[in-house]
Amino acid sequence: MEFRPKEKIKGYHVHIYYDGASKQWAGHLRREIAKRWPEAVIGRWRDKAPQGPHPVSHFQVAFRTELFSELVPWLALNRNGLSMLVHTNTGDGYEDHAFYDMWIGPSVELRLDGMRASWEKRQEEKKKEKQAANDSEAA
Ligand code: ZN
Repeated sequence: MEFRPKEKIKGYHVHIYYDGASKQWAGHLRREIAKRWPEAVIGRWRDKAPQGPHPVSHFQVAFRTELFSELVPWLALNRNGLSMLVHTNTGDGYEDHAFYDMWIGPSVELRLDGMRASWEKRQEEKKKEKQAANDSEAA
């Protein structure tokens, strides 16, 4: 396996999970994040779950790589029982959720089957393209 350069990372998401009992605290975090890091992009409340790979109600915060060392430790100190998924944005949604995930608090099992199927198809196509390129080089 090759080591991946961190330049692959174009930014991050943090998905902040909550339930009925913890939604109020999630709201406090939401307002405080907006105040402290106005450049972070806060997504809407997603009460309905599951949604995509997320099995639990959540909202998302998108932020650039430079904010990581400020925002992530602050969330760790202030999670107050919430689970949070931090993932890279490299351009491949499946890899970002399945391989490049980091957790603040206990992890939640993501629903990756749908994304995995199309990812496996893409991997198969890449393999074929690589094989075809190798074949034409060899000829
Ligand atoms: Zn995300």
